[in-house]
Amino acid sequence: MYNIAIDGPAGAGKSTIAKIVAKELGFIYVDTGAMYRTLALACFRDGIDTTDEEAVVAKCQSVEVTLGYEDGTQKVYLNGEDVSTEIRQEEIGNLTSAIAVYSGVRKILVALQQDLASKNNVVMDGRDIGTAVLPNADLKIYLTASVKTRAKRRYDELVEKGQDCDLEEIEKDIEDRDYRDMNREVSPLTQADDAVLVDSSDMTIDEVVAKIISLK
Ligand code: C5P
Repeated sequence: MYNIAIDGPAGAGKSTIAKIVAKELGFIYVDTGAMYRTLALACFRDGIDTTDEEAVVAKCQSVEVTLGYEDGTQKVYLNGEDVSTEIRQEEIGNLTSAIAVYSGVRKILVALQQDLASKNNVVMDGRDIGTAVLPNADLKIYLTASVKTRAKRRYDELVEKGQDCDLEEIEKDIEDRDYRDMNREVSPLTQADDAVLVDSSDMTIDEVVAKIISLK
């Protein structure tokens, strides 16, 4: 199996890029953030206090997260219910980084991710793919961009969806999320020693895709 790992901070363009690279190579795209978001949604729906590690882990162990593909698009299911759209809310994104700090939560998903990668050629994106989930990935990319660029991208995305939002608030959320993701004890976001650094601040999507494919 050929495994490509793409890690990087929120809003760097990982999922956009990973999806296209997977399509061009005929690989499966695995969005690990969607899996963490699904567990966060399960906790949110039950009103679980995300600072209560025991309650969060117990909830996550009690639900089933599965992935499916419709016309090549990844769908994520919570106990069989398609929650692919619901997990995209900003509120869920922020809650997600709060529950992703718990090792009990990560253990559940890492096992699932490793299983997928052992059976399929994958482009997998996340925060700890090259460092923890697939340390032997054939190609590792660390995709980043400046906070300003990432906030503006997220803002444009939300505006396009017709959502009300504030650029400064998004920038602050991104900074907070980066801080939590990079400073947590378990599998913090960091560039793997053997990952290729790609800064997409001044690159088009096509340029980033071409760069990654040229490295394969
Ligand atoms: O990539 P996305 O923004 O959907 O991820 C949401 C959150 O899930 C991240 O901010 C991070 O806290 C967590 N995450 C993680 N490890 C991954 C993927 C996502 O901790 N492999």
